[in-house]
Amino acid sequence: MGRPLSEHATYRSLSLWHETAGDDFEPRPALPGAASYDVVIVGAGLTGLWSAYYLHKADPSLRIVVLEQEVAGFGASGRNGGWCSALFPTSWERLVKGSSTDGARRQHRAMQETVREVGRVAGLEDIAADFQQGGTVTLARTPVQLQRLRSGAETAYARGFTEDDERMLEPEEARAMLAAESVLGGSFTPHCAAINPVRLVRGLARVVEALGVPVFERTRVLGIDPGRVETDAGTVRAGIVLRATEGYTPRLAGLKRAVVPVYSLMVATEPLDEAMWSSIGLAERPTFSDGRHLIIYGQRTADGRLAFGGRGAPYHFGSRIRASYDAEPRVFEDLRNVLRRMLPQLGTEEQGVRFTHQWGGCLGITRDWAASVGLDPGTGIGWAGGYVGDGVATTNLAGRTLADLVTRADSDLVTLPWVNHRSRNWEPEPLRWLGINAGLHAMTMADGEEGRTGRESRIARLMAPLTGGH
Ligand SMILES: Cc1cc2nc3c(=O)[nH]c(=O)nc-3n(C[C@H](O)[C@H](O)[C@H](O)COP(=O)(O)OP(=O)(O)OC[C@H]3O[C@@H](n4cnc5c(N)ncnc54)[C@H](O)[C@@H]3O)c2cc1C
Repeated sequence: MGRPLSEHATYRSLSLWHETAGDDFEPRPALPGAASYDVVIVGAGLTGLWSAYYLHKADPSLRIVVLEQEVAGFGASGRNGGWCSALFPTSWERLVKGSSTDGARRQHRAMQETVREVGRVAGLEDIAADFQQGGTVTLARTPVQLQRLRSGAETAYARGFTEDDERMLEPEEARAMLAAESVLGGSFTPHCAAINPVRLVRGLARVVEALGVPVFERTRVLGIDPGRVETDAGTVRAGIVLRATEGYTPRLAGLKRAVVPVYSLMVATEPLDEAMWSSIGLAERPTFSDGRHLIIYGQRTADGRLAFGGRGAPYHFGSRIRASYDAEPRVFEDLRNVLRRMLPQLGTEEQGVRFTHQWGGCLGITRDWAASVGLDPGTGIGWAGGYVGDGVATTNLAGRTLADLVTRADSDLVTLPWVNHRSRNWEPEPLRWLGINAGLHAMTMADGEEGRTGRESRIARLMAPLTGGH
């Protein structure tokens, strides 16, 4: 039942979301053989499926096909932390440099609107994705973190955003949202919804199929060229080819150094009872984090669990991707410990709440840490990706933008600064391996140093060019 082509045991075992989705993940038919379409989309994650959805809506006469090497929602789109947020990975400075202050502001406003758009379509198309726009609470648990949150909010106001976009929280207010240990304050933004990622992406695949767009699964694309893609089932010809392969892109011929696959890992608890939830908070299901350098992210799931993730898993030499890299026992252990320290209500490993799931997946990072979407009118090849770890909502903006680019719509979206941005290639190995792992290590060290000294770490500032400032 739903056995994958890859080394994974079953699709259901890919994550908490997969296991509890009530879906058998039985693969759809593979591409039967050579074929010809107007648009071929490579990858049935959120990027590929949103693109198919909006393209069909824009021009129902287009013959569109989606090709997926495993099943829809196999990649990061099915496994993520479920933050459908307005966070945009490209730095403000880079957006301004590539366009203007107004352009950067429009990009961020477009992301805020995108969060609502995902909720709108989920409602309209009856996709039971447990979408709840409860915002995000970011806790400050050390004086340096508090200082960083304050200066982040001040910077946002100086850029034209207001307290309706981001506001500081007094310690009591922050604690009322999330009763964590050592809360010195926090910040809150309403621009995020908690979702169940697998339900969103699987629901979207069903909607796209019902619109008449075939989704061929277990069909691997080997290479992309103008006007055609080579697959393990034959050649597909199409005037437009859209690449939606994110972290898996380096496996495609000629794209080895376009993005690096970096792993993010997650753990989840058993469902918690009401007494436990009233001692924790998260009543409106805001997603949560704190102000450390090495990203952590959590949500209260619709079925009452804590799902919690973070970076910190190593980058693997040669941009290799393997099922075994989804599991890194040290990182799982760290995540459980961080969450138990944050929320002592959870109790000890021996006697407290049980952690029932752990999983991971890869996301794509470009050399300049800039996400992009584009279409080369000369070749007919389009792409979207490099979302770092902020892809859930961004894929929707990408899908709408690709639809406008393909249909040559004269829209605001096609003038946003990320459109047609080109990142340069990553360095060859071993430089890539050395640089990325040094950056990851530096962030862990910076958090440790700040915890010990209470002062802003110089390591993080020094390593900013390698880590994109994240
Ligand atoms: C553990 C984890 C937690 C995350 N948490 C968050 C979060 O909370 N919020 C957030 O905004 N972002 C988060 N992200 C990032 C987010 O999930 C991704 O940015 C987003 O899902 C990317 O969507 P995508 O469709 O571009 O890529 P994917 O979902 O990876 O889809 C790509 C698809 O293409 C297929 N494919 C690849 N190569 C080929 C080929 N050659 N032939 C055919 N098919 C191919 C793959 O099988 C896959 O299904 C997280 C990522 C991970 C791994």
